[in-house]
Amino acid sequence: MSTDRAYPVPAPGGESTLRIVWIYPDLLSTYGDRGNMLILARRAQLRGIPVETIEVRSDQRLPTTADIYLIGGGEDGPQALGAQRLIADGGLHRAVAQGSVVFAVCAGYQLLGGSFFAKGTKCAGLDLLDLHSDRGSTRAVGELAGDIDPRLGLPPLSGFENHGGRTHLGPGVSPLARVTSGIGNEGITEGAWRGKLLGTYAHGPALARNPALADLLLRWATGVHQLPPLDDTWSERLRAERRAALAARA
Ligand code: GLN
Repeated sequence: MSTDRAYPVPAPGGESTLRIVWIYPDLLSTYGDRGNMLILARRAQLRGIPVETIEVRSDQRLPTTADIYLIGGGEDGPQALGAQRLIADGGLHRAVAQGSVVFAVCAGYQLLGGSFFAKGTKCAGLDLLDLHSDRGSTRAVGELAGDIDPRLGLPPLSGFENHGGRTHLGPGVSPLARVTSGIGNEGITEGAWRGKLLGTYAHGPALARNPALADLLLRWATGVHQLPPLDDTWSERLRAERRAALAARA
């Protein structure tokens, strides 16, 4: 796919519609993470990009030709089951090999790595990102903020986290952000990315609280470098309010 097209936007892959898949809404969809799909679809539609959103339950086969795949958070049991089913399905690996974008949150992020712990048991992940997760001594709950990898050109990350796992990155991935508040991966870094795969501990939903991150995913999926700006003052007000709440606590 070309990476230097200008607006107006031809749809990715020469087809007419941007296809967004929400993986396993029946298992992995805590804390409003499904809002990530709504935000992506809305921000694409406002740019004149036709969108198809597809919810794939855990008893269904994953389509392999979508442009963006989204995975949300989940409790340990659903997370372990979701990982097993995604490994057995094999579709996400094929989609990634074909250049699809993946955005994963919390449990969804952990299961993209080599392994994670659920209910005290080590579980195999999809091994799509060079990372593994173990358990922390305390649960990480609260506001999460960080300065995003400058290569991605995004404003600071804002979200909230609620997880028992701690994630350790290998050399094959880059941290998404340096933590300025909260725990993220292990108190220092937060999230990870490689190519067009990106994972984070940020709920909120993350793409509502970080619209520039949503646009990064849309740029990756469409190959369009410059998307027309949208009125994001509502989200700036929300971000300012959350930052002020953090400052008041400090
Ligand atoms: N079960 C995972 C953990 O506790 C992920 C939690 C979540 O997705 N919020 O670390």
